[in-house]
Amino acid sequence: MKCPYCGNLTNKVIDSRLAGNSLSIRRRRECFKCSRRFTTYERIEQVPFMVVKKDGRREPFQREKLLDGLLKACGKRPISTQDIEDLVEEIERDVKEKFYDEVSSKKIGQMVMQNLRKLDEIAYVRFASVYRQFKDIEDFSKELKRFSEKQKGGGKK
Ligand SMILES: [Zn+2]
Repeated sequence: MKCPYCGNLTNKVIDSRLAGNSLSIRRRRECFKCSRRFTTYERIEQVPFMVVKKDGRREPFQREKLLDGLLKACGKRPISTQDIEDLVEEIERDVKEKFYDEVSSKKIGQMVMQNLRKLDEIAYVRFASVYRQFKDIEDFSKELKRFSEKQKGGGKK
């Protein structure tokens, strides 16, 4: 691990701890040569977790893809990027705990929707329209209608 200040290759670890997501380890290091301190992150290498698509094909789980979809769904909604990242983190952890080594894309979609719904109804409907890939527009309208009725019903969630 090269010191970012002087380029020296030897240093000592002065502190190690799990990063917030528990999937990486944050280490505080001190350079032997210049004594300056810097931080490194080690990501735990994970066994590829497979997603089974509708047509039966499998592809490795890509958190970036999920994050991207969620960012789109949450566009212009009062949700912070941090909230979305936390959501992805939570879903990823949940999915891996419950499904061991593979999961259907449908199931992931359902889990996302459940979680997103708690966060923001509009983002939820938007995400649902993309992810669930409604068979016809009617399904989507039903969903929207149900949502707007709930809105009219008023009050807090
Ligand atoms: Zn140094």
